[in-house]
Amino acid sequence: MNQSPTHAARNPSVFFYYSIAAALGLAFSAVLLSLAWNNVVQSESRAFAFEALSVDEQARKQVRAADDSLRSAVSFLAASSASPARSTFDAYCADVLTQLPFIQGIAWYVHDADANLGLRRHAACTSMAEIQIPPQLKATADDAMASDIRAALDVDAATPVMLARGFLSESAYALARRVPLSHASGGEARELVIYLIDAHRLVDAGAADNSLAVELYLESEGLSGRRLLLRRGHPDRKPGLVIKTLEASNQIRFDHYSLRFNAQRNLYWTEIDKRIPFTALLLSAGVALLLIALARAKELQTRELAARNRVIEEQVARQTRELAQARDVALSASKVKSDFLASMSHEIRTPLNAIIGMAELLGDTPLAVEQARYVEVFKNAGEALLSLVNDILDLSKIEAGQLELEQIAFDPRDLLERAADIYALKVAEKGLELAVQIDSHVPALVIGDPSRLRQIILNLLGNAIKFTQRGEIVLAAGVHPRDEELRLHCSITDTGIGIPPDKLDAIFGSFTQVDSSTTRKYGGTGLGLTISKRLVELMDGRIWVESTPGRGSTFGIEVALRVAAASAAPPTPNFVGRSILVIDDNATNRLILTQTLSVAGARVHEAASGADALRVFAAAKARGMHFDITLCDSQMPEMDGFTTIEGLITQGALAASIIMLTSSSVGQDVARARGLQLGGLIIKPVKRKDLYTALAQILHHLPPMARTEAGPEAPTRRRSLLLVEDNADNRLLVKAYLSKEAYEIEEAENGAEAVERCQARRYDLILMDVQMPIMDGHAATRAIRNFELETGRQPVPVLALTAHAVKEEIDKSLAAGCTAHLTKPLKKQTLLDALAKHLA
Ligand code: ADP
Repeated sequence: MNQSPTHAARNPSVFFYYSIAAALGLAFSAVLLSLAWNNVVQSESRAFAFEALSVDEQARKQVRAADDSLRSAVSFLAASSASPARSTFDAYCADVLTQLPFIQGIAWYVHDADANLGLRRHAACTSMAEIQIPPQLKATADDAMASDIRAALDVDAATPVMLARGFLSESAYALARRVPLSHASGGEARELVIYLIDAHRLVDAGAADNSLAVELYLESEGLSGRRLLLRRGHPDRKPGLVIKTLEASNQIRFDHYSLRFNAQRNLYWTEIDKRIPFTALLLSAGVALLLIALARAKELQTRELAARNRVIEEQVARQTRELAQARDVALSASKVKSDFLASMSHEIRTPLNAIIGMAELLGDTPLAVEQARYVEVFKNAGEALLSLVNDILDLSKIEAGQLELEQIAFDPRDLLERAADIYALKVAEKGLELAVQIDSHVPALVIGDPSRLRQIILNLLGNAIKFTQRGEIVLAAGVHPRDEELRLHCSITDTGIGIPPDKLDAIFGSFTQVDSSTTRKYGGTGLGLTISKRLVELMDGRIWVESTPGRGSTFGIEVALRVAAASAAPPTPNFVGRSILVIDDNATNRLILTQTLSVAGARVHEAASGADALRVFAAAKARGMHFDITLCDSQMPEMDGFTTIEGLITQGALAASIIMLTSSSVGQDVARARGLQLGGLIIKPVKRKDLYTALAQILHHLPPMARTEAGPEAPTRRRSLLLVEDNADNRLLVKAYLSKEAYEIEEAENGAEAVERCQARRYDLILMDVQMPIMDGHAATRAIRNFELETGRQPVPVLALTAHAVKEEIDKSLAAGCTAHLTKPLKKQTLLDALAKHLA
């Protein structure tokens, strides 16, 4: 399928390589052949030039010799007596003819008035008997010969004389030179010596090679133009391919005439030396072949690469498929695992619900001391098992990557204070102090996952309380704003047993405790910090610890949250000008209270004990000063809070201006506070909001003790509840929990029965188990909501009871129309609180 584009991509590149190779091969061959050709032609031209030069040299030498000889002959005649002996001249001529064979004849003429020359003496070469020298050279007045003769008589130099046609051979010419005047009679030159020269013989010796075409021209002023003396040989002497015509031209100059020598020769294809072009041809063919081989190699390499790429692509595709399959398998395995965990957790929680609940009920009945201890043990064991189940479920979900964080708006201050509240009782039981200090810059509304943040804080607080026997625990929080984001940092500092330095890293690992005796002594699973670490990382944050064994530890977390719109920190009330007395033996508590009140503008005075407080109060009174409000801790060594307050009231303090800080909302403290008609009661750890509200109420003369009466309002009429639950043990448990409450309880064993009962009458609230046979809780709730819609009946609150603590389950319940969600195992107080809330 994918091959056509690959082909398309490959072909152009192959053509490209071949065309480059061909172009290079052609260019190289052309250059090489032209170089070889030039070389051959040049060497032929050099040979021709040399040949022409030797012919030219030959002719030049001979013509000069003739010229010199003529001058000598004339000088000889001039030097002789008035009439030299014919025989002497003849002997001289014979000598010349022997030495210069190209001279065919020598004649000595006397000129007459008609410009005719009459032979006075003559000499002829015996070897050329056929040449007859005429005794008289006749010329007409306008004859060219006559004008040449006249010209020759006028100068003392050799002058060419054109002989009439037919006089001698075509290639012959004459050179005439006058005999000087001193020798002539009568003062007028009348005698001429004429050399008859055969042009053929001038060039004979040099032109032995008849491949050379030679032309000899006679040029002189007297002659009209030039005259061809000799043409020997022809360039086209043979058939064949002429490659080039080689030419050379030279001039032999004399005073009154010159001879022009032209040589010509055709260069034939058959004549040239073909070894060099042939070698060049072979070489270029070799180079072209080499280039083509290179292109071919490139093509093969490209093809091989493409093939290898295809194989790799297929491999990658196959591996991707396999990975996807493996991922699907892993996902389904992880889904199976989490389904298994969900149903396991349900299966374990349902019996645990009965165990813990029944242990709680059993504990409330009159028991022997030993029996009570046994009941306590199995209740504790049940709770430990439940916490282990919860932890394992959480960790598996995180590890399976199935834990999704919520993004909802919440108040971080409220979250932290409530988390501290949960442990308030436990802290009080252990005689510890728990203080919460939240920076005023922490906004009132942020976006994040409140339940997971609470889980982390609860775990760290729980550990701090567990590992601290005396002293205090401080939960502090602040923020670092960062663009859109907000980094919330919390620290939990205790004065407990501390952690050895070499264990500081290990404690964040699964099932890790500082030493093996920890479980026996303190309980726990070693999973809490592991889960907290993973949750913090999911929130793009970090967790750390600093600790000194024997002195205590500080666990810190930092998590990313988003700032919600309208998230400004809550307004601080104005207590400017108010003086407040803070009485607490715990320095941290005093510090936090002082800071919180000073921010609001109040003048704060501190007292570290009851006796100290009485002293401060008395001193102030002596100065005529009073405290608008007194905050007093109930539990103090030596003199407790109530004794102190009584002392203050005795000194004149107004009971309604005193607020008691106590660890519990129940028990003696509340009753004593009510008896003293104090202005307020704040449960420790002190929350900023509670403090400000209580102060504001007192300062505005609101009825005192307004907020001390916590707890559900007593129902005025018996409320009707429908308990829908298939498990008889759990029905029994819920009924036992509510036995002392004024509720009228009806039961249904499955959803279908519940729907029927709802249609028959109206209940104030329904407790609906989710997993039931015949019709489950979700289907039943949907049917009830539909019925209410159809009949226009007021919606009844439905509280879903489920063993699944996971978010999806909660979402499902809410989607089905449930009002809220309670997780099994159900605790008595949780149930009572939920009923009070939804029946209010
Ligand atoms: P668990 O508390 O259930 O054992 P954690 O993971 O919460 O498990 O804690 C692991 C271990 O770290 C604890 O067993 C304890 O040894 C040590 N540790 C945790 N918090 C503190 C603390 N505040 N002080 C001293 N030791 C602590």
